[in-house]
Amino acid sequence: MTSSICRSEKVSEPPENGGPPDSFHKWSKFCRKCGAGMSVVDEGDKTWRHMCINCKYIDYFNPKMVVGCIVEHEGRILLCKRGIDPCKGKWTVPAGFMELDESTAGGAARETYEEAAANVEIVAPYFHLDIPAIGQSYVLFRSKLAEPYTFSSGTETLDVKLFEPDAVPFQELAFSSVSIALRHYIEDLRDGRFRVHHAEIEKLPGSAPNDPHSFRLRNHMQFRIESS
Ligand SMILES: [Zn+2]
Repeated sequence: MTSSICRSEKVSEPPENGGPPDSFHKWSKFCRKCGAGMSVVDEGDKTWRHMCINCKYIDYFNPKMVVGCIVEHEGRILLCKRGIDPCKGKWTVPAGFMELDESTAGGAARETYEEAAANVEIVAPYFHLDIPAIGQSYVLFRSKLAEPYTFSSGTETLDVKLFEPDAVPFQELAFSSVSIALRHYIEDLRDGRFRVHHAEIEKLPGSAPNDPHSFRLRNHMQFRIESS
């Protein structure tokens, strides 16, 4: 089976003049307080901000939290085939952006229900992954399929399946974060003892979300935990 590379729109080279990336100017065009136009200003040390030209309101952009579950059932791992871009048709664990009114574990369970119509019992935090180049921070939990132990495709999912650890389709996974987390999960599974992991993913500018040669893992920390 050959893998294909997903289209990427997020990681771009900073311009040579030392200014913000070209796309940065498009993020905020009008002030949400007064409706006037926005300017891009250097807050100091090349920290670029969007500031209203009228009322000076600053529109901050901060990283987003992505929360999700590695769901286990009878020794197998639940994966969803994505029905939307980016990476439509690729496999992933159920995960998505955290909402304002929920916890990380609550959001992970909600995303699992939305994408796989599956109830889960959260077991433990598993992998915290920062991806500074695209402003995302992942929190993935280990979980077990819960009653009624059923699953099916959600509106943004083409298929949902349980995979034996040896059969996880690494060449057809959607995201570097999911690939890294699942490789460690299977390693821990074989080791008979789960760890809690933290790491950063360093992405190459212009790289696709699932290109296996487009990133490297940095500052990987892992800790054994007693209960699993
Ligand atoms: Zn304003």
